[in-house]
Amino acid sequence: MKIIISELMDAAVVDQLRDRFDVSYDAGLVDRPDDLLKAVANADALIVRNRTQVNARLLAAAPQLKAVGRLGVGLDNIDVAACEQRGIQVLPATGANALAVAEYVIASAMLLLRGAYFASADVASGAWPRNQLSDGRETSGKALGLVGFGGIGQLTASLAVKLGMTVYAYDPALADDAPIWRDTGVHPVPLNRLVSEADVISLHIPLMDSTKGLFDANLIAQMRPGAVLVNTSRGGIVDEAALVQALQQGRIGGAALDVFENEPLPAGNAFPSLPNLLLTPHIAGLTAESNQRVSQLIAQRVTDSLSAASAASARE
Ligand code: NAD
Repeated sequence: MKIIISELMDAAVVDQLRDRFDVSYDAGLVDRPDDLLKAVANADALIVRNRTQVNARLLAAAPQLKAVGRLGVGLDNIDVAACEQRGIQVLPATGANALAVAEYVIASAMLLLRGAYFASADVASGAWPRNQLSDGRETSGKALGLVGFGGIGQLTASLAVKLGMTVYAYDPALADDAPIWRDTGVHPVPLNRLVSEADVISLHIPLMDSTKGLFDANLIAQMRPGAVLVNTSRGGIVDEAALVQALQQGRIGGAALDVFENEPLPAGNAFPSLPNLLLTPHIAGLTAESNQRVSQLIAQRVTDSLSAASAASARE
């Protein structure tokens, strides 16, 4: 059976897959759409990260496809309904990169609250901006507001609680008396209250019609003066222009963005170079360790799915 892998996967795990399947691994295939369409023509499984668009065009070019492994969790690049209709299994790596994202959130929050880590060039050049950097803030005792309290939100909360933060979360899928609140010590609050009371706001929601543009100019205006925003969820959820304006006007304390409406950012984009604005290329969930965990989990899930498909066709 044939497996096409169109984005980065752990090399040792790819080799394990080669023991059982005919595997074609090309991490750059995602950037060559015509080659990708040709490559999937006889594929039984396709393994992607977040950039390969598994849409109607790709599915039409892949008549034998039985499984799509997703090296991550967001499924906004996969037409899940169309896959279901064709009986194609969509297999995300639920949980396997959550720790990488949770650590990214905590690290960003600490960097932005303290505000002392952007002085290397000044200090090396002989400047001594000690007075200007003397009012950095500690993380312990601050309020963290999590928008979305699923797998990653919960793990982030557990790290934050250990640091002495008070954690609030907004998640309409969880009732106020759900046991998870008591178990985690996190307080359920309405979105407006979370936004106006948190020192650090972190977004952990999927990109869907209902969440597109959710963190708009109106919510940004309700953030506490000096509060910081971390977005590792998906671009398109935060109004980027309104956020940049709030940073430039000094209304909020900082932001860390790992995801953007357009990835990679187009030339001439509106992001200024500011010491309290951290930009990373959608790597919150990607570390050496998480790549290994995610790859291993997806290799196993795809193997199980293809084995089941082959057993079913043998019975027919
Ligand atoms: P999850 O499905 O476990 O949790 C998402 C939660 O969001 C659910 O509990 C859901 O009820 C809640 N939710 C949905 N709509 C909401 C709304 N309007 N307001 C508040 N809550 C809402 O997902 P997860 O594993 O925690 O991941 C969250 C998101 O993080 C993913 O969808 C993905 O887009 C993103 N992600 C990014 C990276 C990265 O590298 N930057 C890595 C992993 C995941």
